[in-house]
Amino acid sequence: MAPSVPHSSSVPLLTSEANEKYANVNWEELGFSLIPTDYMYMSKCKQGESFSEGEIVPYGDIPISPCAGILNYGQGLFEGLKAYRTEDGRITLFRPDQNAFRMQTGADRLCMTSPSSDQFVQAVKKTVLANKKWVPPPGKGSLYIRPLLIGTGAVLGIASAPEYTFLMYVSPVGNYHTASSGLNLIVDHTYRRAHTGGTGGVKSCTNYSPVVKPLFEAKSSGFSDILFLDAATGRNIEEVSTCNIFITKGNIVSTPPTSGTILPGITRKSISELARDIGYQVQERDVSVEELLEAEEVFCTGTAMVVKAVETVTFHDKKIKYRTGEEALSTKLHLMLTNIQMGIVEDKKSWMVEINGCDE
Ligand SMILES: *Cc1c(COP(=O)(O)O)cnc(C)c1O
Repeated sequence: MAPSVPHSSSVPLLTSEANEKYANVNWEELGFSLIPTDYMYMSKCKQGESFSEGEIVPYGDIPISPCAGILNYGQGLFEGLKAYRTEDGRITLFRPDQNAFRMQTGADRLCMTSPSSDQFVQAVKKTVLANKKWVPPPGKGSLYIRPLLIGTGAVLGIASAPEYTFLMYVSPVGNYHTASSGLNLIVDHTYRRAHTGGTGGVKSCTNYSPVVKPLFEAKSSGFSDILFLDAATGRNIEEVSTCNIFITKGNIVSTPPTSGTILPGITRKSISELARDIGYQVQERDVSVEELLEAEEVFCTGTAMVVKAVETVTFHDKKIKYRTGEEALSTKLHLMLTNIQMGIVEDKKSWMVEINGCDE
């Protein structure tokens, strides 16, 4: 159910003026599912060459070789970031350079050519500007941006594709946090998400479809998501299917280290910094299941949810309950970060990048 909105839910958005400014979307009911928009970004590059500027094209299906690297061998990466509309009418991005960098790291691991950081950020700006009217009104959500880097050239034997496509589409999404209460996680004993030497540390498309089955099973049993253990020992916690995890005890906030099997989340990094700023000691180190069970608070971080409290963790037949709500550190950190992202407080860290208009 949508939470009650203190005001404005009865204010019609589609006046003639708003009509030009905004797409015809019910901004009060945004969730996290695809709402196709007008345009997408596309750029192609041959192996051994580099990406050109690329172009904005109407959003739609793309023709692809049946023999494409992405279709046959999963040679592809994705990214995810958000654009916000501020109260004073600016449109901003949260740390897009970090996504650019992560795509480069992933491209290196999957033997693909990647766009430069500058090309990446420019492409994000162009795509958002072309779809400006789909950026939700301030406070109603954000425009989720999904960049892809995929091997689109034909390869029959396993090899890097001879051509890559860098593309980007967007969808307006709601504020995840307000939409539901805390997460109920189950520790998985059967499946492993990532292995040392594998691709867990990059946003490779191949990491995600194997998660669907355990996720489906967890949801069928009434859980919100799965907490994966390390493949080597099965003793330490790693992360949830698409978000990072933190535990707290007293003044210490701990999160597993990004040493190859955990995705280095940009929200994870930002939240660690904010927690240090308010006096917490943040430790990146192995976190055992025993410690998880004894923690005072547990929370997850990721672009979609920003910060979300974990209400319970189920481990075998034990169900542990954690602190959530107004007093929780996760609530405080969520507010600190979203205030920066939405332009409500001054961005002292220069995390936000403004999109200035047609000259971009
Ligand atoms: C994308 C992702 C995250 C979160 O990363 P952010 O940069 O914070 O969005 C965490 N874990 C996995 C497995 C992911 O795919």
